[in-house]
Amino acid sequence: MRRTAALIVGGGPAGAAAAIGLARAGAMPLVIERAAGERDIVCGGFLGWDALARLRQLGLDAAALGARPIHRLRLVAGDKMVERPLPKPAAGLSRRQLDAALLRLAEAEGAMVLRGRTARAVEDRSLRLDDGEEIDADALFVATGKHELRGTARQIGDRAVSVGLRAALPASPTLARDLAGVIELHLYDGGYAGLLLQEDGMVNLCLSAAQARMGDGREALLASLWQEAPRLAERVGAPPTEWEAIAGVPYGWRAKATDPGVYRVGDQAAVIASLAGDGIAIALASGIAAAQACLKGDGKGARDYQKAFARRALRPVKAAEALRHMAEHRRERPVMMALARIGGLAGLAARMTRIG
Ligand SMILES: Cc1cc2nc3c(=O)[nH]c(=O)nc-3n(C[C@H](O)[C@H](O)[C@H](O)COP(=O)(O)OP(=O)(O)OC[C@H]3O[C@@H](n4cnc5c(N)ncnc54)[C@H](O)[C@@H]3O)c2cc1C
Repeated sequence: MRRTAALIVGGGPAGAAAAIGLARAGAMPLVIERAAGERDIVCGGFLGWDALARLRQLGLDAAALGARPIHRLRLVAGDKMVERPLPKPAAGLSRRQLDAALLRLAEAEGAMVLRGRTARAVEDRSLRLDDGEEIDADALFVATGKHELRGTARQIGDRAVSVGLRAALPASPTLARDLAGVIELHLYDGGYAGLLLQEDGMVNLCLSAAQARMGDGREALLASLWQEAPRLAERVGAPPTEWEAIAGVPYGWRAKATDPGVYRVGDQAAVIASLAGDGIAIALASGIAAAQACLKGDGKGARDYQKAFARRALRPVKAAEALRHMAEHRRERPVMMALARIGGLAGLAARMTRIG
């Protein structure tokens, strides 16, 4: 049996941020990441100004990774469209590029990353891997994001959940021109589709939909979404056939408690509605905060961190839930579109949904 002081399960932004913080303090964390190499995941790839600031704090410049600047938000609902400036500069970057850069940095700082290894279950900070190896940890960081780990699964009760789908599309000259500097959101019942330009010139198409709409399968869902969002259909043509997919996304959930020595970070700490585009910032902020709490080493670190982070995430998560509610309901969408036209209100909503 292997033993380690700090064990991080999941090498997404939350796990990598925790690993960087711990490694810089000499704690030599061990990261278990099931992807063997660089990969895309379900995510819109939107980096808000708070995410960009956290990345700088960790020592990463998103622009140097090729991130495309974004200055405007475009909302589309039926035949209505509103476009507003964002309060501060944001950016678009593929998760393939972002996550790989964060993990490389964690390794450069002294973290050990085991790639291509999947954690199966955890019990009392003892982790079992897919090949049967067991690792005991003094401090365990649960950073499995959108995926549950047996033994520490999020308790979401009867909360309604969503599905996420993501595809990369070649950018035609028209699409590249229309999306330059813009994050474009197409709203429909139970969700939205987001479009932005990635660093590689492809368009990231990411959509979220109420899981209850998946009853007749993915193709039927896409067909009905393309009918409800005709401008999306105009933009991208027929629905793509290849998608990354995720189910059971519990928007609005926060971890208010934890077990001794167990730090929940990223989507395992708080799940903000994805249309707010702040999940990556929350992942980075929670990873940084959890590492700092662990390094204090006073034995109360995990419990105090988890409570404090749940409080810190309350405002952005609740504000994003209010926006999601309006965006997802047919009767309230026109109100949301009308409010978005009022100078300053869209900017205020964008600021309210950032993690402090
Ligand atoms: C449809 C949709 C669109 C979104 N768009 C945006 C956006 O544009 N901007 C934004 O800021 N946020 C967005 N989000 C939210 C964002 O994707 C998440 O909040 C963020 O990825 C959370 O980071 P994380 O590190 O907690 O988890 P993840 O990014 O999910 O990373 C978890 C990592 O853990 C690994 N892992 C999982 N299970 C195991 C295991 N058992 N063993 C080993 N490794 C494991 C995975 O391979 C992965 O690398 C979106 C979410 C959805 C659903």
